[in-house]
Amino acid sequence: MISVEEALTRILAEIKPLNVVHVPLSEASGLVLAEDVVAQEDIPPFANSAMDGFALLSKDSKSQHGNPPRLRVTGGVAAGYVADHAVEEGTAMRIMTGAPVPPGADTVIQVELTRNDGPESEWVEILQEVAPGNNIRPAGEDMRKGQTALPRGTVIGPWEIGILATLGWATVPVICRPRVAILSTGDEVVDVSEPLQPGKIRNSNGYLLEAAVRRAGAEAYRLGVARDTVESLREKLTEAVTYDLILTSGGVSVGDFDLVKDIMQERGQMSFWRINMRPGKPVAFGHISGIPLLGLPGNPVSSAVTFELFGLPLIRKMLGHSRLVKPQISVTVEDGVQESAMRRHYVRARVEWQDGRFVAHTTGNQGSHIMTSLLNANALLIIPEGGITLRPDDTAKAMMLDWPEV
Ligand code: AMP
Ligand code: MG
Repeated sequence: MISVEEALTRILAEIKPLNVVHVPLSEASGLVLAEDVVAQEDIPPFANSAMDGFALLSKDSKSQHGNPPRLRVTGGVAAGYVADHAVEEGTAMRIMTGAPVPPGADTVIQVELTRNDGPESEWVEILQEVAPGNNIRPAGEDMRKGQTALPRGTVIGPWEIGILATLGWATVPVICRPRVAILSTGDEVVDVSEPLQPGKIRNSNGYLLEAAVRRAGAEAYRLGVARDTVESLREKLTEAVTYDLILTSGGVSVGDFDLVKDIMQERGQMSFWRINMRPGKPVAFGHISGIPLLGLPGNPVSSAVTFELFGLPLIRKMLGHSRLVKPQISVTVEDGVQESAMRRHYVRARVEWQDGRFVAHTTGNQGSHIMTSLLNANALLIIPEGGITLRPDDTAKAMMLDWPEV
């Protein structure tokens, strides 16, 4: 049996980021940029006004003998257009926010600091002296032509999308989303839509893992349920090796019908199949026909928890992320944890910020078949190996499942 840390290290050592694909800009969110994005022009591309007002020469704004200077208005320039003439001494042009500053003008005064006789006025009085460059957003103030605006490896979110759009990247080179095959196993497992016969249970793992895989940023494909026969499992795995990653649930513990391990050994290699933890000791990892296979336990809670611990970082590495694992923090465990097993225990808990500290409450019965222990859990308390019992108000480490990876 290997430790959780060693298992994760061994898994990640086998995984490389997937290929680069070009996706439409609107589909790039959440993906990792595969090339440096270099600005091909200055942004803003031209000097423009930050205010609605008048473009003028700064020296024309000086008051004469205490009177506001009066300038002749020669026209106007709106956003999206360019002026058809220059601003000369003693004149001004109306200008709107975002409009290019007309030639000749070196400053803009906002409309509130001027006086005239209406929108068509042929004159304007300047009520305050303005320095050169006032209210002008120079070309290249945000980004300079040739500048690396986003380095490769950047995770694309809404703000990066805004930068890419500004720079004209209609398609974006990104690491592609892994296509993940999800295979449930077990003669007892039937689909959610089928009637429940005696001895059968519904395939919760297939659907739970589908949602978890999507949340991790990958594409999920449920391949249904393999029977507990070599033939059925072979057939399903033959289909599964056309994907980037295979997730199985069930069939990896020491039982008569546990065949995933056998087939992994027959058609590829197995790296390990037991981890010193609960829930979820029987986790297998290896390759089949060159495709990584993560074999998760059948018990639904074990399956969910081991996916968070191993499947999520694995998928994130395929996606090209550099931050792979959830952060761990110190919490006060208000209700304590009574421990019996010697293995590392991941206890489902709700962690909240209370009176200046993080306080955890466990979610009740922690059996690996108790699916309701997952509800409301936003953290896993990490109870170290050795059967350590936490008394109420003891401190423990918690892995924060709803915080971004570090
Ligand atoms: P196994 O790892 O195949 O021995 O399964 C362990 C436990 O998980 C058994 O009680 C199974 O019935 C249950 N189980 C296996 N697969 C699923 C599944 N897809 N959905 C829900 N429970 C399952
Ligand atoms: Mg089974």
